[in-house]
Amino acid sequence: MAEQKKKIGRIEVDRELCIGAATCIALAGDVFELDGENKAVVTNPKGADDATILMAAQSCPTKAIKVFDEDGNQIYP
Ligand code: SF4
Repeated sequence: MAEQKKKIGRIEVDRELCIGAATCIALAGDVFELDGENKAVVTNPKGADDATILMAAQSCPTKAIKVFDEDGNQIYP
């Protein structure tokens, strides 16, 4: 079965889970940045291509980054 390729529509960071490890920022610094509380925030959901954003989400040690497609379906985790 062919893998469905839906574009990323929305990215969320769970502030309870985020520990400020910043690997997401290392991988996609135009998408995420740390705020004053050392929690990642999404600055530009179109700041990297979908594969890079997914990689950044997968790199998060606490799975704090949730990725949704354009229809609002959760892609990751
Ligand atoms: S990788 Fe995860 S824990 Fe680290 S800053 Fe990004 S969202 Fe937070």
